[in-house]
Amino acid sequence: MGLRTPEQYKDALRDGREVYYRGELVPDVTAHPVIGKAVNHACIDYQLAEDPRYRELAVVSDPELGDYSRYYHIPRNTEDLLQRSRLIAASTREGATLVVLIKEIGTDALFALHVVAEEMAKRGKPEYKERVRKYYELCRDRDYGVAVAQSDVKGDRGLGPQGQAHDDYYLRVVEERADGIVVRGAKTHTSVLTNTDEVIVLPTRAMKPDDGAYSVAFALPAATKGLKLLASSYGGIPKDPFEFPISASHKMMETLTVFDEVLVPWERVFLNGETEAAGFLALTFVKFHRFTAVSYKLPLLELLAGAAQAIAEYNGIERAGHIREKLTKLATYHATVQGLIFAAAHNHEVVAPGIAVPNTLLTNVAKYQFASNYHTAVQMVQDVSGGLLVTGPAAEDWRSEATGPYLEKYYGGKKGTSAEERVRLLNLISDLTAGDYGGYQEVLAVHAEGSLEAEKLQTYREYDFATAADYARELAGIKK
Ligand SMILES: Cc1cc2nc3c(=O)[nH]c(=O)nc-3n(C[C@H](O)[C@H](O)[C@H](O)COP(=O)(O)OP(=O)(O)OC[C@H]3O[C@@H](n4cnc5c(N)ncnc54)[C@H](O)[C@@H]3O)c2cc1C
Repeated sequence: MGLRTPEQYKDALRDGREVYYRGELVPDVTAHPVIGKAVNHACIDYQLAEDPRYRELAVVSDPELGDYSRYYHIPRNTEDLLQRSRLIAASTREGATLVVLIKEIGTDALFALHVVAEEMAKRGKPEYKERVRKYYELCRDRDYGVAVAQSDVKGDRGLGPQGQAHDDYYLRVVEERADGIVVRGAKTHTSVLTNTDEVIVLPTRAMKPDDGAYSVAFALPAATKGLKLLASSYGGIPKDPFEFPISASHKMMETLTVFDEVLVPWERVFLNGETEAAGFLALTFVKFHRFTAVSYKLPLLELLAGAAQAIAEYNGIERAGHIREKLTKLATYHATVQGLIFAAAHNHEVVAPGIAVPNTLLTNVAKYQFASNYHTAVQMVQDVSGGLLVTGPAAEDWRSEATGPYLEKYYGGKKGTSAEERVRLLNLISDLTAGDYGGYQEVLAVHAEGSLEAEKLQTYREYDFATAADYARELAGIKK
């Protein structure tokens, strides 16, 4: 098949999957008032492939395979990584700064599975390589949306899978049968699974030698018996696009993903008991996924700088010293992350079987720069904007003959600018930084793709302290 239309993508979601929203079973996710919004948002990845402006970026034309989505193109070099990054940024831009993610994250996991299966084959377990290849081809050829459930619910964070209040805080294998494995447990924060075809399940951490039952990776269709998706309720209220220009029509769903004794056929099992490979798989996925993460942040950072500049102009303060300083910091923030992505792609490492992995140090530095500065950037944009971000009028007030003229008269800014335009811009900034979508973006910044500490840990591990310390010793006149 190769490429699906947005309609084909939506039709496939009416498959009897077990999704709950606010305690009720959802018969059709595409028709649901909240999840349906997330479905429409996800269509962007399919629309880009049909859009002449993006076709070349979104589609790979292969003489043997025909046309297929670039997300499924295995990166081999710098240009492949940069094109992937550009596509991720372009789809997020079309999504008004909210990442689409239905192919981005799944392909990150597929690349990692290729790398780990290759290594497993070297260690005398050849079966995973063939299974991963076949599964990858299935997803690519059917143009699937694929979610990734990595984060376990974890219970006591100070403990591993064992010694917890119960045995299911980490997903585990409870039975091996002739036709496959049976798994029980729950993964949490699983983005987009309400509206993808498939889910790939990965271990969340390194495992100890007696954690075999928890060292498991596999894939399942979203509509699998026993797989229950408990959707998050965050930001579910109906919204007027005048007041909420982004979040009225853009949404991503997360789920508590419950595996209630679910059978996984052998051909979909990619790790089963190999404790030494669990951490390798978890970390390899993250190497790709943090590069995706920083790529999809770029439109958001551009918008923060652009919104601050535009509202400063409406407010007549764009030349004030402290405003210019804040604008310069916002520009530096955006440019730093952008530059690090570029450098991470250029300084990639090619690992077996010939896959280009973005530079791990630079990717983690980019992600940490982004995440640790996000709240400060939001504060600067709010500072430039003023308090109307939370005290502004409703859409109905603008439409009312009784109140509209007062708003037009008193909410103007610099001479020659329109009050309505100024309020529209403030509504955009409010939606982005001060409403439920703003809160979602702030938590997403801190936690998604790993918490701040996880990025710092990777940076510490990857930085070449030995060479740096040698240099210090050399200058101090210390002989080796
Ligand atoms: C919007 C959103 C979307 C997401 N999408 C996905 C997805 O699609 N798939 C997926 O698998 N995951 C997803 N995640 C999960 C994300 O990767 C996790 O939120 C992140 O890894 C943090 O885990 P946690 O939420 O359990 O927080 P915790 O791990 O509980 O972190 C809270 C704090 O505890 C600290 N901490 C945790 N463990 C320890 C320890 N042992 N010792 C000391 N300190 C510790 C952390 O550093 C942090 O400061 C998403 C998260 C968000 C917010």
